[in-house]
Amino acid sequence: MFKKILIANRGEIALRVISACRELGIRTVAIYSEADRDALHVRYADEDVCVGPYPSSASYLNISAIVSAAEITEADAIHPGYGFLSENAYFAEILQDCHIAFIGPLPDAIRKMGDKSLARRTVAAAGVPTVPGSPGPLESVDEAIAFAAKAGYPVILKASAGGGGRGMRVARDERDLAAAYETARAEAEKAFGNAEVYLEKYLEEPRHIEFQVFGDSRGNIRHLGERECSIQRRHQKLIEEAPSTVLDESLRRRMGDAAIATARAVGYTNAGTVEFLLDADGRFYFMEMNTRLQVEHPITEEVTALDLVKEQIAVAAGEPLSFLERDMAPRGHAIEFRVNAEDPVTFAPSPGRITTFHAPGGLGVRLDTAAYQGYVVPPHYDSLIAKLIVWGRNRDEAISRGRRALDFFVVEGVKTSIPLHRRILDDPDFIEGRLSTRFMERLAAKG
Ligand code: ADP
Repeated sequence: MFKKILIANRGEIALRVISACRELGIRTVAIYSEADRDALHVRYADEDVCVGPYPSSASYLNISAIVSAAEITEADAIHPGYGFLSENAYFAEILQDCHIAFIGPLPDAIRKMGDKSLARRTVAAAGVPTVPGSPGPLESVDEAIAFAAKAGYPVILKASAGGGGRGMRVARDERDLAAAYETARAEAEKAFGNAEVYLEKYLEEPRHIEFQVFGDSRGNIRHLGERECSIQRRHQKLIEEAPSTVLDESLRRRMGDAAIATARAVGYTNAGTVEFLLDADGRFYFMEMNTRLQVEHPITEEVTALDLVKEQIAVAAGEPLSFLERDMAPRGHAIEFRVNAEDPVTFAPSPGRITTFHAPGGLGVRLDTAAYQGYVVPPHYDSLIAKLIVWGRNRDEAISRGRRALDFFVVEGVKTSIPLHRRILDDPDFIEGRLSTRFMERLAAKG
């Protein structure tokens, strides 16, 4: 087993990894940028190293500074968290060369799934349904128009190198598409340094359903059930729940098998997530695979009673999956609310000093956060300040517990998404489980 793990991340996920290491008796090294000197992950780690100034490119993405920090502190493994370097195949490769374990999949699997257009081809070849669209990146606007004519409008243009809900454009007719093609390429080039785009049919009212998968170095691959992530703003998740209200045993088995086939197609090891769109007729399509731990992993932990980060560490150290012989059917119901420091109406970021911070607690309530009273939310990073996770014996209990926990959660000094979550929990469509990725659009239209 590893003796010391460096966490190449910040915020709540860095603390989450430190917690797992502490329980396993593994020492930890925090890295931080100059903007994060007062951050909790720095205080809770056994050792800490400043890796550069606030821009991420100079610190949390600075591979040579991070590898040096690992070498100086004699860390034998690195956990990348999510975001930053977590899906960077080159980083995983460098660590291999330096004999530092990367707590994640092999570089080849990251590479194959990181190119979304290549990922589509790879999983389609393994027999997994994909959204109808162009088989590869588009060569010209005429090719885009020809594929759209075949698939039928509306269509969505996506950046091959995209992520984080960025680099997508919907086109409703040929004229729309001709204009969107040029802007999508320009945006992709600017955001990801790669102008390649591909095209998919745009599904009108799908649900986003994803499966947590896990592989070990002995070829075992299992799934740990689904998460419903249909409540999104700007294609980014806001509320996630497990299990989904729409999956019956048969659909869960078919989607779970497809998720495992996807992971198997790239020889997947460690934790990963296979994302699908599910249409109103019960047809599902592969969308992408995230080759890392997800923000929303706690809801799977709540319904399986498994610590996914400990599992990641054990698997990276060469151990087999711990749950091979166990029935992993979900127990009860869990919901996660992403609490962002942002305006709940315009979604504009709201950095600044948190003057009051009263955390909710009690049975079935979990708060994953690195915020505290007096903490200054820096403007440089993503706006997530806390993840409130509630568990109940059934969905109704989880919802009422969520209402109570949100009412008891007091954050002042910055604007947060708490009031928005509170509103969603009182919405009749949410309560009835009538969800789709356009839920938020419809909620806004209700005024
Ligand atoms: P990212 O990697 O940027 O998160 P995804 O491919 O995972 O992008 O898509 C994010 C969200 O965009 C999905 O959850 C869904 O709401 C929407 N989306 C993506 N592809 C389609 C599609 N073909 N039809 C309808 N909605 C889509």
